[in-house]
Amino acid sequence: VTIRFDHDSLAQRVRFASGGARSSLAAEIELLAAERIMVIASPAEKELAETVTEGLPVAVVHDEVVMHVPTDVADRARAVAESNDVDLLISIGGGSTTGLAKAVALTTGIPIVAVPTTYAGSEATNVWGLTESSKKTTGVDDRVLPRAVVYDAALMTSLPVDLSIASGLNALAHCVDSLWAPRADPINAAMASEGIRALNLGLPAVVDDPGGIEGREHSLYGAYLSAVAFASAGSGLHHKICHVLGGMFDLPHAQTHAVVLPYVLAFNAPSAPDAAARIAAAFHADDAVGGLAKLRGRLSAPRALRDLGMPEDGIEAAARSVVEAAPPSNPTPVTHDLIVTLLTAAWEGAEAR
Ligand code: NAD
Repeated sequence: VTIRFDHDSLAQRVRFASGGARSSLAAEIELLAAERIMVIASPAEKELAETVTEGLPVAVVHDEVVMHVPTDVADRARAVAESNDVDLLISIGGGSTTGLAKAVALTTGIPIVAVPTTYAGSEATNVWGLTESSKKTTGVDDRVLPRAVVYDAALMTSLPVDLSIASGLNALAHCVDSLWAPRADPINAAMASEGIRALNLGLPAVVDDPGGIEGREHSLYGAYLSAVAFASAGSGLHHKICHVLGGMFDLPHAQTHAVVLPYVLAFNAPSAPDAAARIAAAFHADDAVGGLAKLRGRLSAPRALRDLGMPEDGIEAAARSVVEAAPPSNPTPVTHDLIVTLLTAAWEGAEAR
């Protein structure tokens, strides 16, 4: 068998230092010669943001952050950046906060340095998302890729355990789905495998000791790898399903990923033996589905779409949209009946097999 592929790596510096966010930011500001910074952080992360940007040349702090970046929210943030003559955006927060910085960068070209405080991974992708009258549009543009990411696991200790679990499983889903996504290749597969190993080590440690640094570090490192793998490999069936469900029923992002993942893994694993063997090995388990089930058990992971507010009578319509959106290269051929069965099991929280 010959090895043959085309692979794009995105250009970005990563600074990983627990307790080091402020000095990492200062180093980036110097490299970029930034003089007028716009800090983007939601009211919940404002205090955190003030601490890590103390003494830096901050021109303005912007705190209007809304999940999925509504266009009017993006427009107001762009106006603030322009009227303050900003030359660097620093986002401090989860995927929603990073997403707003990306919306500003998309139209202004102002560079971003991202300080993530969840495991969503948006900081390592060149994908942007905007929502207009409840329709979400996404696109790819290298202008929205942060120039640098500043990881500081100490900032994660305030993330509540339930959110940490959901967000960590969102990262795990990036890894698993990238193994059969349209641009899967040996490089992103290597990152995905290492990401699964790190998250499988880190997330149980976060549950055991939410205020401890070690579990947070492994999880954050795994989350970064997951996002790099995802950005490179593209959206597989799992991400298409979650995108459909999130859009149709306004379900919470990370929790939806956490619930759906075992069903997509069980659906694809029999037709993707190489990916399944990799996943099993990364979990140190005999098989992929069992390895994920064991981790989910240790985390008391969210189980059912009905608990997230999805109506049962929405399954048929969702299945139709999933079949339309599913990548033609998905290992197990996607049919309407199979997706109805998958979504029904996920809705009930039945055992994934
Ligand atoms: P989020 O950013 O909405 O954060 C979830 C909640 O956690 C918020 O209430 C926030 O205030 C809180 N929070 C964040 N960090 C905290 C901390 N350290 N301590 C205490 N509370 C904290 O959710 P998310 O799951 O991080 O991001 C989801 C969004 O990101 C979605 O819109 C999704 O589409 C987007 N996303 C985009 C990409 C991409 O590549 N473009 C990738 C992943 C996710």
